[in-house]
Amino acid sequence: MQRACKNDHFLSEEAVCPLCGGPTSKNWSGILTILDPENSQMAEAMNVTKPGSYALKVR
Ligand SMILES: [Zn+2]
Repeated sequence: MQRACKNDHFLSEEAVCPLCGGPTSKNWSGILTILDPENSQMAEAMNVTKPGSYALKVR
């Protein structure tokens, strides 16, 4: 079961986000995969700077 960071929505298996060190939640929905953050309007809208998978909604 993957977990999503409550700060930046980054998906990982960790209890603490590997990107920002924030708490993660199992309660999330929707996956957005960002391959090229510098050329993605979605990445810009979500403040994503690193390639990876992100949850669309995190509670
Ligand atoms: Zn994070």
